[in-house]
Amino acid sequence: MPGTIFTKILSGEIPCHKVYEDDAVLAFLDINPLSAGHTLVIPKEPAETIDRLSAESAAAVGGVLPAIARAVMKATGATAYNILQNNGSAAHQEVMHVHFHIIPKEPGGDGLGIGWKPRASGGDALVRLAQDIRSHLE
Ligand code: AMP
Repeated sequence: MPGTIFTKILSGEIPCHKVYEDDAVLAFLDINPLSAGHTLVIPKEPAETIDRLSAESAAAVGGVLPAIARAVMKATGATAYNILQNNGSAAHQEVMHVHFHIIPKEPGGDGLGIGWKPRASGGDALVRLAQDIRSHLE
């Protein structure tokens, strides 16, 4: 996988505002935040999307997300936040290295804006789809 801007942050080639680091994970402030405290949590493993990430790295990131979210909330005073994880350019991923956004919701409303347009669904189509997904789990 070719390097990304996050590869350069991991190597120290370019700086970041670090908030957390361990052997498998780095977290730092987003340079173009949607709200104060907008933080990115990344595995050190250079996977492009989460379906390509090892279970070990996924567990390492998942294991520290709650503590980092708590720290971001305490530092900003926010009481609500979104965790966003984009995969693929069609899903708004710009940096092709797995990352989780922690985005505090500010009292004035700044933070992640969500256009959530649910479809009606149900019946046999859902039964078949769930079966199909189960059949592809390894
Ligand atoms: P995504 O659209 O999910 O790929 O988000 C990529 C995020 O990385 C954006 O929110 C950018 O603002 C952020 N970003 C890009 N370059 C840097 C950087 N050098 N330091 C911190 N955040 C960055």
